[in-house]
Amino acid sequence: MYWNQEVETLSPEALEALQVERLRWTVAQASRSPFYGKRFAERAIKAESIEGVEDIRRLPFTAKEDLRAQFPYGLLSVDRREVVRLHVSSGTTGQSTVIFHSRRDIDGWADLVSRCMYMTGVRADDVFQNLSGYGLFTGGLGFHYGSERLGALTIPSGAGNSKRQVYFMQQFGTTVIHLIPSYALRLVQVMGELGVDPRRDLKLRIAFLGAEPYSEEMRQRVEQFFALDAYNSYGLSEMNGPGVAFECLRKNGMHIWEDAFLVEVIDPQTLQPCRPGEDGELVLTTLTREAMPIIRYRTRDLTRLLSGSCACGRVHRRIDRIKGRSDDMLIIKGVNIFPMQVERVLMDIPEVGTNYRIVLEQVDGLDSMKVQVEVHSETFKEDMRYLRRLQEKITHDLRNELFITPRVELVQPNSLPQSEGKAVRVVDNRPRHGWPASA
Ligand code: AMP
Ligand code: ZN
Repeated sequence: MYWNQEVETLSPEALEALQVERLRWTVAQASRSPFYGKRFAERAIKAESIEGVEDIRRLPFTAKEDLRAQFPYGLLSVDRREVVRLHVSSGTTGQSTVIFHSRRDIDGWADLVSRCMYMTGVRADDVFQNLSGYGLFTGGLGFHYGSERLGALTIPSGAGNSKRQVYFMQQFGTTVIHLIPSYALRLVQVMGELGVDPRRDLKLRIAFLGAEPYSEEMRQRVEQFFALDAYNSYGLSEMNGPGVAFECLRKNGMHIWEDAFLVEVIDPQTLQPCRPGEDGELVLTTLTREAMPIIRYRTRDLTRLLSGSCACGRVHRRIDRIKGRSDDMLIIKGVNIFPMQVERVLMDIPEVGTNYRIVLEQVDGLDSMKVQVEVHSETFKEDMRYLRRLQEKITHDLRNELFITPRVELVQPNSLPQSEGKAVRVVDNRPRHGWPASA
């Protein structure tokens, strides 16, 4: 049941003691980098002064901008000869950020991913197809090494080429897949076109969905269509990639591996800790990384710590599904809106197809929001009256959720642009509005 029973079921006290020891080591290790070396010296921060996990609050935050400003080597804490790999973050705006790994780091990362996969029931006799972009994107190699270490037959099929993906699933009897949620919906369409019925023709039993925010409604759609259990997988390049937080069989929040990451949830405005159960920004500190430790990294991801223990027996606390990012909140007519709210409404309406897009524009000098929604091909064949009623229903449901009235446009299946990687859900056509608006 456990990949590493000792670490997964430590007592809370033993876990905390481990964290303090590792935090102290991390501060010492980080001080070797030019960036933290200078920062810590200025503030007279020393590893020895760390006595408890609360002492993390005396350390400064690290932001994406710091990583950008220090590009490429400013946060490197080891000699370059000890670095065996780098990943560059998939962020679409601005200067890239780079994360370096030593051999030990890669090893630790793979082990965390194996732990996640094993937790959901993946075993050595499984066939794991990784439909995630390989290369700089961490979802490829991250899952790949985790799966190999676990001993599953690993198919590095990569993203895209949907027909071949389905062919592999059929030929190799794939049982476990990893893919981003928007691509899972694309596959639903492709299988429909190919006449492949997952229940009849495939052996899938587990899916890992992650790398972009998605709703519970989306998970249910995927589970129903593919006839499998879908587990939420959370990670970010700065904290390795996948393997940071993952759902167990209970699917009630994601266990965040506290032996490897120190977890805080803060109010992004006041920077003070949130109360347990209160939504805020996730802040993470690496506890075992040697080549490039990162301290108090502001992820911009919004979530909360769930209270209570999990019936699976793991001590590591759980975070809720990511609600969105503090920097993708939209403000329209003074109302705060997260794209995820739109998705929840849409995915609950059966006629809605597999893709949607939010377009922000200015009409007569006022901000307005248009939601373009692909409908199923059968629905599209219905008469105008039917489509008008559907459009009214979607508008009504969105108004109830968002408190503003968006313009809803029904469009044909496959007509909205598809992205190979993470889905682009928001297009901002408002004059003078950069995207994304930073918080
Ligand atoms: P990157 O490091 O560029 O691959 O992107 C990491 C970001 O992807 C995170 O900071 C989140 O914003 C997002 N992300 C990853 N996994 C999830 C997930 N399961 N749910 C929601 N967002 C996610
Ligand atoms: Zn659990």
